Parts: sequence; C-alpha cells; structure tokens
Amino acid sequence: MDKKGMLVVISGFSGVGKGTVSRALVEKYGYSLSVSATTRQPRKGEVDGKDYYFKSEEDFLRLIDYNGFIEYAQYVEHYYGTPRKFVEDELAAGHVVILEIEVQGAMKIKEQYPNAVLLFVTAPSIGELKARLEGRGTEEAAVIEKRMRRAAEEAESISCYEYLVCNEDGQLEKCMDTIHSIIEKESCRVSAQAEFVKSLKEGLKDYL
Ligand code: 5GP
Repeated sequence: MDKKGMLVVISGFSGVGKGTVSRALVEKYGYSLSVSATTRQPRKGEVDGKDYYFKSEEDFLRLIDYNGFIEYAQYVEHYYGTPRKFVEDELAAGHVVILEIEVQGAMKIKEQYPNAVLLFVTAPSIGELKARLEGRGTEEAAVIEKRMRRAAEEAESISCYEYLVCNEDGQLEKCMDTIHSIIEKESCRVSAQAEFVKSLKEGLKDYL
C-alpha cells in the first residue's frame, strides 16, 4: 500500500509547550518537522536553520513574493512563515509533516490542504499557562502581556480545530501518545487515502 503524506498542524497558546511536544513526536515517531522562517530575533540558545530560519523583514517579504511559503502570518509584530519546498517534498515522499504554527496560518493550511489534521494544545488552566510563560524567563513582562492578549484572541478560534489536547505538567509522554494515536487514526480515513482507493478499484475493475 502506497502511504500518502499527511500534514499535522499543531497550534496552541504561547508557552504551552507545543514546541517540546512537536520535537518529542519527531524523535519518538520519526515524523518530519517543518522549520519556519521568522523575522523575530533568536532567543537564547536558538539555532538558525534548526529552530527557525531567522530572516530580515526584507528577505522575508521577498520570499513571500517568490511564493516561497505555503502560509505566513504576523504574530505579535513579527512575520512567521512555512517554507513551501520542504513541505511539498516531504508530502510527496509520503511522510507525516508537523507544522507548529499559529491560528491564522492553521486556517490557511486547512483551505489548501483539506485533509490536514488540526490540533490545538492547551495547558490545564490559564493560571498554569501564565506561570509557564513567566517561568520560561525568555520574555519581558510587556511581551508576556501581549502573548496573553493574543491567547485570548486565539481562544476564539479553538472551535475551528478538530482536536484539543491538554499538555499537563510532567505528562509529556501522555500528550505525545494522544497526538500519535490521533495521527494513526486520521491516516486511516477514506478521504486521506484517495489514491489507495483508486488502486483497489482499478485492481477489481475486471470483476465488475
Ligand atoms: P515563537 O515566537 O514563540 O517561537 O512563536 C510565536 C508563534 O508563531 C507560535 O504560536 C508559533 O506556533 C507560531 N509560528 C511559528 N512558525 C510559524 C509559521 O511558519 N507560520 C505561522 N503562521 N505561525 C508560526
């Protein structure tokens, strides 16, 4: 059976741990992870080409003109975008590709790839979410405030997602395994296997 590639969008409030969850999924299950481009400054420890492709605004806008992104969005004053080539190549190779992106981008992906699976990761409570953002220690108070405001806006879009998964403290494995089982189940959808259905029909057509 020819395995078709699948896009899995993971969104969630800033600070919820979706980056950790995505990287752990890649490590444990061998999924592909798309590395986004951004115009924001690298945080301490972030590596160009691994965490993000860090771009000047000029370069980012040029990439938009060249149709270099399958989606892009502005988030808290910076641009973020998903490079087109990696995603298209990985899907063509039949891989599961994880996009860790925010809500506007997720909606654009669903328009272009109706079979994409949209997951929203949350913390168990808003108090916990704020504590995690503060605990990360990488952002000033004003930025944390902006991210909380953005979280309030994003909460309005949760109903556009197909799955809501809670990342509880110290329960990374549980969160990851839940997402993995969703991916497994989604890959069995008839609509996600149009080519396979076609080949089954083709093989049986002489018996009709
Ligand atoms: P951060 O600055 O915390 O790394 O990311 C800020 C937000 O941008 C997060 O919600 C993250 O998921 C989102 N993001 C990262 N890459 C992309 C992308 O390529 N496209 C879109 N639309 N959002 C992204």
